[in-house]
Amino acid sequence: MHISFLVLSVVVLFASPSFQKPHGNNHDQNQVSESKDFDYLVLRQIWPKTSCMFPGSHQCTIKNTVSSWVIHGLWPNYNVGFPSFCNKTDKFRPDLIQPIVADLEKYWPNLYTDTPLNSFWQHEWEKHGTCALSLKQVTNERDYFQMTLGLREKFDFGTLLEKASIVPDNSKSYELAEFINAIEKELAFAPVLSCFVEKESKRQFLAEMQICLNKSLEQIDCSEHNKAKMVAMRANEHEQQCSPKMPVHYPVLDRNQKIIFNF
Ligand code: 5GP
Repeated sequence: MHISFLVLSVVVLFASPSFQKPHGNNHDQNQVSESKDFDYLVLRQIWPKTSCMFPGSHQCTIKNTVSSWVIHGLWPNYNVGFPSFCNKTDKFRPDLIQPIVADLEKYWPNLYTDTPLNSFWQHEWEKHGTCALSLKQVTNERDYFQMTLGLREKFDFGTLLEKASIVPDNSKSYELAEFINAIEKELAFAPVLSCFVEKESKRQFLAEMQICLNKSLEQIDCSEHNKAKMVAMRANEHEQQCSPKMPVHYPVLDRNQKIIFNF
């Protein structure tokens, strides 16, 4: 009697979700090829000036239409890892987003002007957007882009920072905590930030910020969980988690101009 109870308990324990392996094989640190339904969404935005100061091998241009934080992506995530390329037959179709292309150029621009205009949207749709199709709000590519534009407007990092008097400035710097506290005060939870560090001067520049949302598109707390992930998802080798020990620069969004800092 006792033994059968013990055997049953062990079976139940190992069958429980907390004992199951992360979905699929973990390659590329976080990427998981299996297309099981995701757990939450990451909304990540870019500060274009910093992105263009550290373009890696790309040619980067901030067009006149851009004057705010812009979308990097809306990414379905698992609690461990993330799905990608969930529907290989649902290829990007530029015609589907034609009616909203002006908004996309403003708020989700391809800053890398050495790549085709559509290539960034194509990448984001095919890699991440196709994994959001399980959301009731997302039945197709247009829905995904439209919904993400709406989320950028709702969670407008630039305006939220401005409310705490944090504005781009080439002659001063901020503490990392000032950015985190400003967003946390206005939203429910803290964001996760990434920075680029200039090799020669060792100065760090605010590059991207992200928050997490549940499937009802409400913010959830994922700050600790996502710090490590943010680094894994970085766009290039110089992008990293912002250090609280160094000042954070938030450069002015002047187009085509190289910054001369007065500090
Ligand atoms: P993920 O692959 O996770 O969606 O996003 C990372 C990729 O987005 C990186 O390869 C990064 O270089 C790219 N990326 C970031 N900003 C831009 C941009 O403005 N244009 C293009 N084409 N790629 C970008």
